[in-house]
Order: sequence, then structure tokens, then C-alpha cells
Amino acid sequence: MAFGARATATLALLVLAFDVLTGVSAAALANVVNSCTRPNVAALTFNDGPFIDALKLLDAHGVKGTFFVDGNDLVHRKGNKCIYKGDRVTALQTAFNQGHQIASHSWSHTNLTDLDPDQVREEMVKAHDAIQDITGASTAYIRPPFYQYDDQVREVAAAVNHTIVLRDFDSRHLADVTVQGQMDHYHQVISQNPKPSNILVLQHDLKKSPVHQVVKYAIQQLQGAGYELVTLAECLGERPYHRVGEPRHTTLNSTACKKGSL
Ligand SMILES: [Zn+2]
Repeated sequence: MAFGARATATLALLVLAFDVLTGVSAAALANVVNSCTRPNVAALTFNDGPFIDALKLLDAHGVKGTFFVDGNDLVHRKGNKCIYKGDRVTALQTAFNQGHQIASHSWSHTNLTDLDPDQVREEMVKAHDAIQDITGASTAYIRPPFYQYDDQVREVAAAVNHTIVLRDFDSRHLADVTVQGQMDHYHQVISQNPKPSNILVLQHDLKKSPVHQVVKYAIQQLQGAGYELVTLAECLGERPYHRVGEPRHTTLNSTACKKGSL
């Protein structure tokens, strides 16, 4: 399953080589990761969280996951929208302190391919900085909302030192698949012969109890099939963060979430 990432990297090299030959200079494009590179590992990754319930579940199983978090999703998020407020700060700091990897899911969960380069940059920088404010960690990864990206998005991601992350397995819980359907999907993938060498799992992290049922099942199935459950960075053999320092703000920076405040 590492083929996709390698193919993407090769393609990027070919594009660069082509530019060298033609004399046309092109901006660097961020790498796009579709799958893990280490064998016998599975990375459980969650979008739109983290929520304390999901953290409790992972902790109870001694499993580390990866959370792609947005800054201020006004459209899809119910309850606390702003990353700097209340439950969200607590959940993010708890996740980070428990050893889960924290990565970016953009600031406002907008389709980045609809934006101009400055707006894309703001989406990435604001989310990155908020994560750094709250956890002290400078994330190296972004999962673009709706998995939408193009060369412009890759250029900006490269400029702000982000690798773009997709997935190669989706539990499909947002596609109205039943709990049983999602479990069957896990079972199906794991029972393939030969089974995948590694799996980069997307599991959304909305506050719904069936999610927990599915995640619990997934952990048991994946571990039972011999996969080591690791973070995204571990499954790639990379570092999760550019650097880790102290959280920069101990007080809440909720003005960052006010419209037009940047
Ligand atoms: Zn999302």
C-alpha cells in the first residue's frame, strides 16, 4: 500500500526534472501521503475531534491515534466551534499529553481548492499556530477538508512545511453506512489474502456512540490480525512535529475565532 505515496513522490520528481529540462521554474509541491510505509502497522486517524469520549476509549485500549483538528468550523461543528475555547482546549491538551499525534485539518474546514493562495496560507497557518499555542507542538501534517487539494494547495503546503495526508481505508461512517456495515468493511479489508501490509484508517470523530462501537471493534480486529496500532508519524517512520516547546498561551485566545480578526 506504500505504492501510492511512492508513485506520488516519483511523479513530483518527474515534474521537477521536466522543469529543469524546459527551464521553467516550478514551486515545490508538498508531498502527498496516501498510506503508511512501515509494514505490519495500522494508523487510526480521526478528523474533526478530538472528543474526550474517544480519548477515553483509545486510552482504555492503550492505543495511540492521530487527530486532525480544525480551528473554527462554523458549518459542520456543533457546540464549541473555536479551538481556543473550553472543551476543545481541554480535549486537545489531553490528547497531546496522552501521546496522540495532533495534526491540522485547516482553520475553517473549507474546500482549499476554492481559495486563492493567500487564503490557503491563512487556513494552514492559523490552524498550525492554534495547535502550537495550545499544545506547544508545531505540526508537520495537514489533511485537507474533503480530501480536496490541487497543485496550488500543495505549493502553499510546501511553503509552510506541511505534508498532505489522505488515507487508504475509510470506515465510511459519514456515508450513512450502518454500524454493522462499517464493521463488515473492516473485517473485509483485514480478511483479504494477502491482507494489506499496512493500513491508514480514517475514522471521523463525531460525538456518536456507534463510532465508539466501531472503533472498539476496529482496534480488536486490527490487533487480532497482527497489526501494531501506531500514530501517523510512526507508520511513516517520520517525526510528528517540526519542534515541540511549551504552549504559548495559557489564556484563551478566542479573538482568533472572531470573523475578520486576522
Ligand atoms: Zn473533516
